[in-house]
Amino acid sequence: MFPELAQELAALEAQALRRRLQVVEEVLPGGKVRVAGQVLLNLSSNDYLGLAQDPRLIAAAQAAAARWGVGSGASRLVVGHLGLHEAVEADLAAFKGTEAAVIFSTGYMANVGVIAALMGPGDIIFSDRLNHASIMDGIKLSGAALQRFPHRDLNRLEKIFKQAPAGKRRLLITDSVFSVDGDLAPLKELVELKERHGAWLMIDEAHATGVLGPGGAGLAQALGLTGAVDIHMGTFSKALGSLGGYVAGARRLIDYLHNRARSFIYSTALPPPVLGAIQAALQIVQEEPERRLNLLENAAKFRRGLQAAGFDTLGSETQIIPVLVGKNEPTLKFAAALRQRGLMAVALRPPTVPPGKARVRFSLSAAHREEDLSRALETIVETGRDLGLAR
Ligand SMILES: *Cc1c(COP(=O)(O)O)cnc(C)c1O
Repeated sequence: MFPELAQELAALEAQALRRRLQVVEEVLPGGKVRVAGQVLLNLSSNDYLGLAQDPRLIAAAQAAAARWGVGSGASRLVVGHLGLHEAVEADLAAFKGTEAAVIFSTGYMANVGVIAALMGPGDIIFSDRLNHASIMDGIKLSGAALQRFPHRDLNRLEKIFKQAPAGKRRLLITDSVFSVDGDLAPLKELVELKERHGAWLMIDEAHATGVLGPGGAGLAQALGLTGAVDIHMGTFSKALGSLGGYVAGARRLIDYLHNRARSFIYSTALPPPVLGAIQAALQIVQEEPERRLNLLENAAKFRRGLQAAGFDTLGSETQIIPVLVGKNEPTLKFAAALRQRGLMAVALRPPTVPPGKARVRFSLSAAHREEDLSRALETIVETGRDLGLAR
């Protein structure tokens, strides 16, 4: 069966692009996992604050299940909007500093839902070239015209704005922390541009929620730009330790999404245990800023160590730290060698990154112990030297 699929898989294999699932047999303390019998320091997880295993989130999930059940029973507009959804969305709006907020089942669904709800054929979307795949899919689904601009290139964006036909709805979208480079959007400048050129600004704070800003709300909060951003999107699936996506903003925007976002309307509401975990995580994130401060400090130290060994960490300023290798094969070799030495780091290849920009990406977590991180750094540098990638 499926001979043509076998051919395509073989072609992927030949380009070192074939992917396979690997089983995590056990999740261990200190940000470690057991895979194929080997204990590895997990430098690939998005559980940036170490909340996925936090006993308080587990207890909150259990309590929510005991009180509300394990399923919400329906989509939100039918009869799945429980008191718990209402409460978590109120907490979320307060956390984000916006009038209102709406929760989707995943961040992917939030992006697809909000973009396709707001934009349609004849409208124009301006999107950073390194934006997340779910943003790209939302754009496709919307049917709007796409104007991609080179990563963080404000001059090109300005030019594209000037050349774009007037009188059409315009949406400027950017990740706030980019998932493959770990760098930041130039948010202040993007706000100026979107105001000058009459566009809405949407930011995806998937990697910034819980990590940046005095209250952990993200990059917009860190820069005092909450009110200047029209559409705040983010997830609970990374630093907040569980699952779910959100959009926060003006009451009218949220009311509109309730009526027009198809991934919200035609999908069952998030289940109570997840909501319980989200509620606990929102509280912890606001009450324990030391988690994100330690994380960012450890990341800065880690990045400096890599740079001192001659690695190119691109524009990373966050807990996401890439090491650029270039070609696919040596990138895979590097990741495989690290794995043999007890480190789980992901090799990112096209189409996730541009051709020729393959890299190994390290994500740090507050769950990691400092001594494990210093040992990991030594291992990475030694391995890099063995492979001729570091000095
Ligand atoms: C992970 C991610 C998403 C998708 O979020 P999920 O909750 O995992 O579906 C969206 N945008 C960005 C930038 C992401 O990194």
